[in-house]
Amino acid sequence: MITIKGAATAEGSVIDLSLESDEESVIDAKGLTLLPALIDSHVHFRTPGLEHKENWETAAKAALYGGITTVFDMPNTIPPTITLERLAEKETLIQQQLKKIGIPLHFGLYLGADKSHFDQIQRCKDRIVGLKVFMGSSTGNLVMDDDNSLHAAFSLAASHDLLLAVHAEDEALIHERKSLFEGRTDPRTHSELRNDEVAARATEKAIGLSRLYKTRLHILHVGTKREVQIIKQAKKEGLSVTMETTPHHLFLTVDDYAKFGTKVQMNPPLRSKEDAAALWQAIQDGVIDTIGSDHAPHTLQEKALPYGKAPSGIPGVETTLPLLLDACNQGRISLKQIIYLMRQRVQQIYRLDSNDDYVLVDMQKKMSIDESKLKTKCGWSPYAGRELKGWPVYTILKGKVYELK
Ligand SMILES: [Zn+2]
Repeated sequence: MITIKGAATAEGSVIDLSLESDEESVIDAKGLTLLPALIDSHVHFRTPGLEHKENWETAAKAALYGGITTVFDMPNTIPPTITLERLAEKETLIQQQLKKIGIPLHFGLYLGADKSHFDQIQRCKDRIVGLKVFMGSSTGNLVMDDDNSLHAAFSLAASHDLLLAVHAEDEALIHERKSLFEGRTDPRTHSELRNDEVAARATEKAIGLSRLYKTRLHILHVGTKREVQIIKQAKKEGLSVTMETTPHHLFLTVDDYAKFGTKVQMNPPLRSKEDAAALWQAIQDGVIDTIGSDHAPHTLQEKALPYGKAPSGIPGVETTLPLLLDACNQGRISLKQIIYLMRQRVQQIYRLDSNDDYVLVDMQKKMSIDESKLKTKCGWSPYAGRELKGWPVYTILKGKVYELK
């Protein structure tokens, strides 16, 4: 039995709580706040094939340190997760790695939509959290930019009642715009090349397909005001369209290229201050459904390459909650909103069963993000050095207490 004594709730009351467990432990939670453990519905933990960047031994620890006990992993690994056989292989590898470190993290996997493997959707539908469609290119080679394939993917997802999660950037427009930026080597080019029109065009197309086939559509990593407006409209229309934003689109902007260069290069790219403000407003308006970290680590060596050669993506699974707690202390978001965005609404959209996992946070604890203490294998963070107020101190996963020291 785990006994938690004197914890505050997100609503402000003080409670004692007993949880079933093999271990006997009593946590004096005076001064701590009890939240349900969070779900990160968008991670790239890099197994298999990219394990010099990350694996589940390091990433599962990073998740626990971020108050997260459930993650959904993306299919752009090597080889990509596009068949039942590869899905099964990946599950086995993950189970082995989690067993090795004794952290039984809950996880779900996406199937990558691939035009030569549409038959796999039916084979995999009961073992996946959703179908991932890359309308724009990112790490890996899973881009689906032709209309016939997109129609097929949306139609199949709908007929199998699968959630379709989309990376909405218009590949043809990116390609077309490349000539405008020839010779440019500054990393900020990335945000200008993949501008808000690139995102808006793909978002509109995805919503059109969702309308046509009645596909349950989840639009990932929304970063611009225009996307928010377009999706808000689709919701008003009554379509089954939801949206995710990321910590980096909330806490970083194009101004951060000056300091971090290609370290803060990701897809879709960083946006303006005005866009970030629109996202914070959309959280207040209840229009944004989920926050996913899009934890996509690369090594420092890879990130040190010049723009054009450096890969896109940043780590985030262990810093998302501390950043949000700090924002909560500043009055920019409430604990209830954090729980909604990273737990309750995720459970609704992905139709998940609940669990008895919790995280205890110390809303008064001040600490800087220290790269040497990070659990992610890549060992760096674009938020390094930021002093945050509000940190997770215990995570409880499947009846086991992990003290976050
Ligand atoms: Zn991603």
